[in-house]
Amino acid sequence: MSVPSSNPQTKDFRVAIVGGGIGGLFCAISLRKSGVPFDIFEAAAQFGEVGAGIGFAPNSEAAMRYLGIFEDYMRVANHRDRYSVILGNETHDHVADMLPHGGPVTSIHRAHLLDVLLKHVPSESSHLKKRCERVEQVSADPPLYRIHFHDGTTHEANLVIGADGIRSVVRDSVLGYRVEPRYVGTRAYRGIFPAQEWLKTIGPENETSLLIVSGLGKIDLVGFVSEPLERRFSEGTDILPPGEPWVQPANKEQALADFVDMPGPFVKTALNSIERMTVWKIHCLWPPLPTYVKDGIALLGDAAHGTTPHCGQGAGQALEDSYILGQLLGHPKTTLQTLRSTLAIYDEIRRPRGNKVVEYSLETGNVWEGWGANGESVEGRKLDAEGRLDWIWQHDINQDAERAIAILEA
Ligand SMILES: Cc1cc2nc3c(=O)[nH]c(=O)nc-3n(C[C@H](O)[C@H](O)[C@H](O)COP(=O)(O)OP(=O)(O)OC[C@H]3O[C@@H](n4cnc5c(N)ncnc54)[C@H](O)[C@@H]3O)c2cc1C
Repeated sequence: MSVPSSNPQTKDFRVAIVGGGIGGLFCAISLRKSGVPFDIFEAAAQFGEVGAGIGFAPNSEAAMRYLGIFEDYMRVANHRDRYSVILGNETHDHVADMLPHGGPVTSIHRAHLLDVLLKHVPSESSHLKKRCERVEQVSADPPLYRIHFHDGTTHEANLVIGADGIRSVVRDSVLGYRVEPRYVGTRAYRGIFPAQEWLKTIGPENETSLLIVSGLGKIDLVGFVSEPLERRFSEGTDILPPGEPWVQPANKEQALADFVDMPGPFVKTALNSIERMTVWKIHCLWPPLPTYVKDGIALLGDAAHGTTPHCGQGAGQALEDSYILGQLLGHPKTTLQTLRSTLAIYDEIRRPRGNKVVEYSLETGNVWEGWGANGESVEGRKLDAEGRLDWIWQHDINQDAERAIAILEA
């Protein structure tokens, strides 16, 4: 049985987005804004996100502006024009201000972000409980694909966008082989705790280092603990055994023991305040992918450049992908006949930056651990951290869009 498309034909090609996480929804919003009809297929019974916070930097906020969702987002997001890095030592030494050129940095609970995004995605385009098992090529030129779902149904589209996360199955069809994400040797303790009392004790100076995720005053904690660098990507430990969960419940004793060399009061208070804590084994796509596209299939978000979170950019890069894709697909020059060359432009524009973020984020994780070029002293950390994220955070995605359109029109 085939799943009918619910969209009007304003283009002579049909788009299917596989995966309705943050990346898939950003993409849906971007296509809608560009007048490109689409259907979005999500494996779960409803759109959902993990119970945690998420932060966005100026590059992502600019992309939200272009997509027309920034005002809705800012109604619920927390924002600040200073964002600091401080150490977890006894004296919580200040290391760097990450917004020397202005902000804001914004943060939000993921559930609230989802509410904002879903307001902009028409429900008639959304298909739930549709787990893609494989993508079959029906014809190469012009491209046509049949998506096979777990429930036995299928759907045909000329363009398939794989937004199905770091363990993407759509990626198999782009690369022609399976790529497993690799464990980077870093665990992240995650949890949310009430801010009120705690904020009073840390003072306004240090408040700028917190991820406040809701107007009710909740703080999101992500605490990283890493294995020594020489064990990174070592054979036998970098791919978890099949069935071993990436995320597990954690308890305070375990977390406090792991953070024993960070005796600062903020660290202890935070770990003691979280009620439901989880620990995540952090994975990334390494080495970065050689391409994000093949014929009429494109990858986006973590499926394309699943990264460690040390630059706070996984979803931010999905936003940039979505904006560029929307600009290219909505352009009058993109038709069924030119679809493949348009996707090649998407790859040309987005892959260098997406892949560089994956690599740079690994290096940035080393800097936060005190393993940067200038060592772990406070002075050394300052040298390594200052201005570190500027090239990502201050990037103007609209210049990339203009470059992409210029190539398309040439
Ligand atoms: C600890 C931590 C902190 C982070 N903090 C930040 C931050 O502050 N800022 C930031 O920008 N990023 C951050 N990130 C990264 C960010 O969470 C991810 O980059 C982002 O969620 C990726 O979105 P996605 O839609 O590409 O993938 P996913 O969120 O994985 O979504 C994929 C979706 O596809 C669906 N799906 C999967 N397989 C199939 C299938 N076969 N068929 C159909 N549907 C399918 C899934 O159910 C899911 O809904 C953080 C990550 C971690 C681990």
